[in-house]
Amino acid sequence: MPGATDPQSLPAIEGWWAFDDAGNPHLTGGKCAACGTYVFPPRANNCPNPACDSDVLELVALSQRGTVWSYTENRYPPPAPYPAPEDFQPFAIAAVELAAEGLIVLAKVAEGTLAADLRVGMELELGLERLYTDEAGFERLTYVWRIPA
Ligand SMILES: [Zn+2]
Repeated sequence: MPGATDPQSLPAIEGWWAFDDAGNPHLTGGKCAACGTYVFPPRANNCPNPACDSDVLELVALSQRGTVWSYTENRYPPPAPYPAPEDFQPFAIAAVELAAEGLIVLAKVAEGTLAADLRVGMELELGLERLYTDEAGFERLTYVWRIPA
């Protein structure tokens, strides 16, 4: 798997994930210091809880595994400006519930896993996958949900 130690890869988006001590990726979220509400994508302020007036969110590691809440399959390449490979292959998208955080995180599912392989309630874990290769030859990575090995 491409990761933090691969010099030929860079994140497609900065700051949305990091690695634990074992080198496994986790998403980075924001957590309200006052009421404990989580947000993803991460941001530094503006707690989403309408009953909370805190304006400080701390950056925290989110759970690496969650359960499928819903999923679908994308059979068409995304429109510009989103990068799409010329040899477009259908891919699955899963909304995964992180129970500890009370979040549902939507992401692409790892290449090779399609909707027929998924079911609501099954456990998926976070992985990284090449989204595209940039002009300088770096593989740009994005986060995906994948079936645990
Ligand atoms: Zn709050």
